Amino acid sequence: MRYISTRGKTANLSFKEAVMMGLADDGGLLLPESIPVLAPGDLAALGHLAYPELAFRIISLFTEGIPSADLKQLIDKSYQTFSHEETTPVVHQDGVYILELFHGPTLAFKDVALQFLGNLFEYLLREQGAKMNILGATSGDTGSAAIYGVRGKENINIFILHPHQRVSPIQELQMTTVTDPNVFNLAIRGTFDDGQRIVKEVFGDLDFKTGFALGAVNSINWARVLAQVVYYFYAWGRVQRATGCKEVYFSVPTGNFGDIFAGYIAKRMGLPIRRLILATNENDILTRFVSQGDYSIRSVVPTPAPSMDIQLASNFERYLYFLFDRRCDRVREAMAEFAAGGRLTFDADQRRQVAREFLAGSASRAETLATIRDFHAATGYILDPHTAIGVKVGREQAGGEVPLICLATAHPAKFGEAVQEAIGQVPPLPDSLKDIEQRPRRCEITDADTEQIKEYIRRHAQ
Ligand SMILES: *Cc1c(COP(=O)(O)O)cnc(C)c1O
Repeated sequence: MRYISTRGKTANLSFKEAVMMGLADDGGLLLPESIPVLAPGDLAALGHLAYPELAFRIISLFTEGIPSADLKQLIDKSYQTFSHEETTPVVHQDGVYILELFHGPTLAFKDVALQFLGNLFEYLLREQGAKMNILGATSGDTGSAAIYGVRGKENINIFILHPHQRVSPIQELQMTTVTDPNVFNLAIRGTFDDGQRIVKEVFGDLDFKTGFALGAVNSINWARVLAQVVYYFYAWGRVQRATGCKEVYFSVPTGNFGDIFAGYIAKRMGLPIRRLILATNENDILTRFVSQGDYSIRSVVPTPAPSMDIQLASNFERYLYFLFDRRCDRVREAMAEFAAGGRLTFDADQRRQVAREFLAGSASRAETLATIRDFHAATGYILDPHTAIGVKVGREQAGGEVPLICLATAHPAKFGEAVQEAIGQVPPLPDSLKDIEQRPRRCEITDADTEQIKEYIRRHAQ
């Protein structure tokens, strides 16, 4: 299995090379040259496997060059940190199946991918006798999941910038209470956008980037997408056994098109998904794309589901590659057009193609909170705001004839304020976080200044 770039100028990479490269050298995103399709018999056999075993079977289709025993060990280690014995259990509530992806160390679905990516990085660096310094900016969720992914790992240091006093208290604690010597939290006096700008500028200094072996953990790494493909198969297997129904809908709250793109890969591999339902908040560029063929950028508005307050879907280019029949020249043209005008439009044929694969809708702030309230009243189950958006849109869009699986992307305690506004109570913290306020913290407060950040990295890099 070789890897290629959506822009066609980087090709013939191994899985290991693709993981270490992250973003393709030609500016595109990396994808396997072909997607394996499972025979129906093989699919049925996957349906009853435990999570780590299933993960091994799916992931190993894409990881040529890593010995099976090593891969198995990496996967087992990655999911031992989850607090639920099923890793990603499926619960049935009020007619929908909720796929709980929040039992990892930071209580959001990003752990599923980043626990694996952290172990994979450590494995590849050891093999190559190399070192890496990860640099990223976060508005909350990604930063803590990345920190937990690489804490205590050999040959990796991680530097995460967050806007000082502008992330939720729980998110800040989740980052700053990780005091392993390879973890560096930098609270910058500025906004999330300042953090992103600084990271871009540091990566833009190519001598610095190469000199310090800078690496990224954003959602463009193929290994992250790959790890997320697994839970679509897992949930399908569980729901299929419970209902006897072969086909399902998946409803996915999304902003970067990362999680839902993993579902799209699962569908291409032969998983019987009738449609993928794409759910957004008021930042609805992806919904407009699916329902109107209009992918045009607007300014970002804050919502109760901040991890989806995004207007630039970093994984969208991967889908364009398939929509354009794998023609890299057309992907390049489209990305140039979008960079110049902030907009892409799609013709009737393309829109029909999109409609065969996706349904979409968005939820306003009031609808999100009402969904949390109504669902809690009906079942006693507390949805986090991101999950509530998926439930609301999923119910609207899915036909009733096959089961609806909604991805629960975060534990409600992570977004306690919004939940409290909806149901008048704060969801209890899970046991793993009960003492978090008492734990020692480590964090450096600095100016939002690129040179100062570079100096800090120079002093603390691997
Ligand atoms: C990151 C995140 C999302 C959006 O993920 P995508 O990769 O953009 O689909 C949704 N919910 C939560 C809780 C998140 O942390």
